[in-house]
Amino acid sequence: MKAVLDHVGIAVDRLDDALAFYRDALGLEVSMPEDVPSQRVRAHMLDTGGAALELLAATAADSPIAAFITKRGPGLHHITLRVDDLPATLRHLAARGVRLVDTEPRTGAHESLVAFIHPSAARGVLVELKQAPPPAVRLATASMTLGDLTLTALHDGPFRLDGGAMFGVVPKPLWEKVSPADDRNRIQLAMRPLLVESSWGRLLIDCGVGEKMPEKARDIYALDRAVHLDHALAERGLDAAAIPFVLASHLHFDHFGGATKRGASGLVPRFPNARYLIRDAEWEDATHPHERNRASYLQDDFVPLKPAGVVDFYTGDVTVKPGVRVVRTGGHTGQHQIVYLESGGKTAVFAADLIPTIAHLQDPWVMGYDLFPMETLAFKRRFIREAIDREYVIFFEHDPLVLAGIIREQEGSGGAKRFVEQIL
Ligand SMILES: [Zn+2]
Ligand SMILES: [Zn+2]
Repeated sequence: MKAVLDHVGIAVDRLDDALAFYRDALGLEVSMPEDVPSQRVRAHMLDTGGAALELLAATAADSPIAAFITKRGPGLHHITLRVDDLPATLRHLAARGVRLVDTEPRTGAHESLVAFIHPSAARGVLVELKQAPPPAVRLATASMTLGDLTLTALHDGPFRLDGGAMFGVVPKPLWEKVSPADDRNRIQLAMRPLLVESSWGRLLIDCGVGEKMPEKARDIYALDRAVHLDHALAERGLDAAAIPFVLASHLHFDHFGGATKRGASGLVPRFPNARYLIRDAEWEDATHPHERNRASYLQDDFVPLKPAGVVDFYTGDVTVKPGVRVVRTGGHTGQHQIVYLESGGKTAVFAADLIPTIAHLQDPWVMGYDLFPMETLAFKRRFIREAIDREYVIFFEHDPLVLAGIIREQEGSGGAKRFVEQIL
């Protein structure tokens, strides 16, 4: 069983004196106070980098905190340990004869589940167990019209990647404010292929991770396949057979793993009626991986497509269908590309791994995964300027919550600040 120290609760009688020490003298950052009416208590969290300190002040004379202070004076009140599976932990402790205050979890702050262990079981310390709520991820499809094109953000379920790798040189205290990490330092992401429909037919840009991942990788990437691309297509009245064209932004497993599936006699194209549109130079790189990119280019994802005779290779930046144009960005991989969708004088862009989430809007927030980060930086700086000026609708392939939006800029004291006006 694994338990991580989440925070230490301190009962305070005079809140101003407590803040004078912890906030003003020690210089700890205090988050917004939170009232817990059922306990008649106001809690101030103090950030210490790892586990937090929680100052607990009674808001009424009959508060349990007031009773505690009357009996024992101000000071250490409880410690809180975070566990992955609280019901299982409580069963485990009960089976060992540990005296529990709560035998069933109850709802704590921010939709977490909590339960208390009796102080007599922990040598006089009140121990709170907590199971954090899973990070939010939106698994929904949504559409918009762009001139003659209908654009539908689909999804292929959630996954998680190492937060450090997702933000490159950006220090964790900065990125974890916008993308909270789990106990394994992973951040919540989604995989969102984009369906483009027009009079010429349907084209799917990227196709998620698919079902081939072995158990160990499913665990590492927190893959949950309860809902995936087939469900997203079904929500739109479609199935894999209804897709005549599949375009790859690049051939990494989280973008093109869903291109093949296991058939009765080996790997076969997952979309039985589709032509697969792949940039020739990306295919070259993907089929000749090196130590740095081997874990991302899984050969089973794309190699079987060629003997099946379903690949249409193209060279350079081309218009693959009316209104659908690929542009090489490089950076992330040597041939990584984004997709411009243009119709009726309007532009949307499928940004793939150039701007994987809305947390990556600032120019230097470049992924550690990128093979050529300076190339990413140069392209991104130019592209985001263009996107702001021309009000492009950007599709964020990996954002857990925002499917698409327009990047805006607001002048502030620290210079121009970018944000996304959410469209989908
Ligand atoms: Zn990638
Ligand atoms: Zn990716």
